[in-house]
Amino acid sequence: MPRVLLIGWDGADWRILDPLLERGDLPNLQALIDRGQKAVLRSTVPTHSWAAWPSFLTGVDPADHGVYDILETVPGTHKQYPVTYKSIKERTFVEDLSTAGKVGVYADVPLLFPPPNINGKIAAGGVLPKNRTYTQPADLAETLEKAGVPWEINGMSWTTYRNKPDAYLAEALEITGKRIRASEWLMDNTDWDLMASVWVSVDRTQHALSNYVGPDHPDYASNTKTAIGAKVRDVYKQLDDGIGSFVSRTREDDLVLFISDHGFQSVTRTIHMDHLLKEFGFLEFSASNVVFGPMQWGPVRKIARKAYDMLGLHGKVSLPQSVNWSKTKAFTTIRSTGEGVSINLAGRDPDGIVDPADFEKVRDRVMDRLANFVDPKTGRKPVKAIYKREEIFKGKHADTAPDILMEPAELYSLTHAKTSLEDADWISGDHRPEGVIVAAGPDVRAFDEPPFLIDLAPTILAALDAPAMIKHTGRVLHELVGEADVKHTEVAPAVAIPGMPTGDEETTVSDTEADEMEEHLRGLGYLE
Ligand SMILES: [Zn+2]
Repeated sequence: MPRVLLIGWDGADWRILDPLLERGDLPNLQALIDRGQKAVLRSTVPTHSWAAWPSFLTGVDPADHGVYDILETVPGTHKQYPVTYKSIKERTFVEDLSTAGKVGVYADVPLLFPPPNINGKIAAGGVLPKNRTYTQPADLAETLEKAGVPWEINGMSWTTYRNKPDAYLAEALEITGKRIRASEWLMDNTDWDLMASVWVSVDRTQHALSNYVGPDHPDYASNTKTAIGAKVRDVYKQLDDGIGSFVSRTREDDLVLFISDHGFQSVTRTIHMDHLLKEFGFLEFSASNVVFGPMQWGPVRKIARKAYDMLGLHGKVSLPQSVNWSKTKAFTTIRSTGEGVSINLAGRDPDGIVDPADFEKVRDRVMDRLANFVDPKTGRKPVKAIYKREEIFKGKHADTAPDILMEPAELYSLTHAKTSLEDADWISGDHRPEGVIVAAGPDVRAFDEPPFLIDLAPTILAALDAPAMIKHTGRVLHELVGEADVKHTEVAPAVAIPGMPTGDEETTVSDTEADEMEEHLRGLGYLE
């Protein structure tokens, strides 16, 4: 029975990989391309890992799994918590494979915390609270430690290494090296059907150092020749060695997939969406009530604030201003990338002021301003595409999606600024929808139709002959698996499935853990 090896490079983009391939820096990826197929893999809207990886896991769009941002709002409040596996409101292929008796190994796949109870092994990826079980089985972390291949969580907080590329790169190479060794051990010590590993050093590095590796950055030509340029390429070479090592552990009839969750573009100008909305007259900050983070409630917040006062971190961590809801008509609802804005609607939002009768009028005005404003420094429009919610989202959780969705123009990020619009500082790259895929295996042929990230879940199930319990939005990529198809079980069982969210659990993480995770998210540039 063929197996599937999936290697994900978070944020990989052909614009960056092609020149590295030409230089001969990625021989193992080249070998995979030579015996397989290479294409662009289209991501989700919004184009960031927190919406994209759940789409990979479920085979449906964000409107059907309900994860739009790194934070989710408690309905009817302004309280927000970091998203976890339990935030994904649709069944994942991880559980379908397990139900079918297939053994899956998942190394650093984002959003698999808390790990579902499956047949297989998980070292959860994404942003994790300390002192919580992040593995399945629960003692896997200890087992890896004892085997001399300890797993290290989190790390690579690129924003905390502002203008210290050497220190950042040293950490990225060290942590990634450890995870490669642990993943090799997992492959060698598991009778796996699916081995899925995700590598985040590409994304983190490209956020901070695209100016050394992204040909679309104006400083690339000179930077690429520097010592730091060479060290940035080491991040890719290390992961390419990993590809060689993992592929050497496959058999001839195995399907090997190399993917990214989204692509990347260089950035020279950045935006702060709430400040921009303020400038346009749609939002007011409450000057008197400056709080520490976006989760603006509770005594824990005050304690965290005190700790930060004591540690003197205020100069390093910018404090977002809280919004004066009674004077705000529109606000940012995808905080991690600025790609989503919503209308402060009466009857829906906790302090909504816009009359539902005026919703369309207000939304049109906000969209018009966002779509047409011009950056005076460049003469260009920072927003490349803008959509109404219903143009993008039709699924069952569409009602919790932002009212307005945007894609940034080339060289723009819709987040990471301290003012409404400014030159990029330390950040030099951000996401775009065009990700990558390479596939090699006995049935792999050229793509008839462009592949999408949401096609991976049904394709993996088809390749491993495991039935699905949900209808996917994505299609089986027959170009990769031949005649194999995914069978659907008629009706999903009414009984609770282990690990499956039932919708009535308590919040997955405590307030203290949410604070801790939030701090790490800030380091990753997802929060200000
Ligand atoms: Zn990213």
